[in-house]
Amino acid sequence: MKILVAVKRVVDHAVRVRVRPDGSGVETENVRMSMNPFDKHAVEAAVQLAEAGHATEIVVVSIGQKQSNDVILTALAMGAHRGLLIEADGRVETLAVAKLLEAVVAEEKPDLVLLGKQAVDDDSNQVGQMLAGLLDWPQATFASEIKVLGQGLEVTREVDYGRATVAVPLPAIVTADLRLNTPRNAALPMVMKARSKPLAVRPAADFGVDLTPRLKLEKVSPPPERTAGRRLATTAELVAAINSELAELEAL
Ligand code: AMP
Repeated sequence: MKILVAVKRVVDHAVRVRVRPDGSGVETENVRMSMNPFDKHAVEAAVQLAEAGHATEIVVVSIGQKQSNDVILTALAMGAHRGLLIEADGRVETLAVAKLLEAVVAEEKPDLVLLGKQAVDDDSNQVGQMLAGLLDWPQATFASEIKVLGQGLEVTREVDYGRATVAVPLPAIVTADLRLNTPRNAALPMVMKARSKPLAVRPAADFGVDLTPRLKLEKVSPPPERTAGRRLATTAELVAAINSELAELEAL
């Protein structure tokens, strides 16, 4: 099985996100960036499938500025075989990302495309589903377990009402949830080895996809500061406080 994994470079999850003073977006200058956390689970799943003898090649693709090299190198250090950076400046919207990935699928012909369930910068949760729609492939989103069964997969999905297990014929799209696995930290020798693995860089223009934004970003603003909490001594005080808050809400 050949696997394509899509990884995005985002503001590191441990960094406190700051909105630019002019409200034009989130500050990314001089901010630590890293691989979208869900994408690490997707890479780990691909590497585990290779280690179990189910996958023969793992290709990692990232779309973005040239610095997205970093996240491809991280994936190569984790065990992926080959990387592809599709260079694009500025904001690439989810539909354009899905169309670029569709073009990569046409070239690479993978049996499985693994993605994160969502990128934590915009929390869109769209690319996997859009790619499945464009390719007309089956999809299993929010995967917490992937088993190879015969010619297809059995995927357990994290859904609102619990867990759903679905049989998925290949080729397919699977998006990774946090419970899927524990991503490995690549040891130094693997980090060094990653630098000698093939990494192709191609401009987005190569793929004939219209990247013109369809959305107009009006303004980005930080959420309101949390107000301080109150400590109540007894359950009776708590009940009284809840009732008074409810009364205030009803009066609105
Ligand atoms: P989203 O729909 O934007 O929340 O992203 C879902 C998933 O699509 C991410 O977890 C990545 O696996 C993939 N993805 C989104 N944007 C990119 C990108 N610029 N480059 C590579 N993969 C991406």
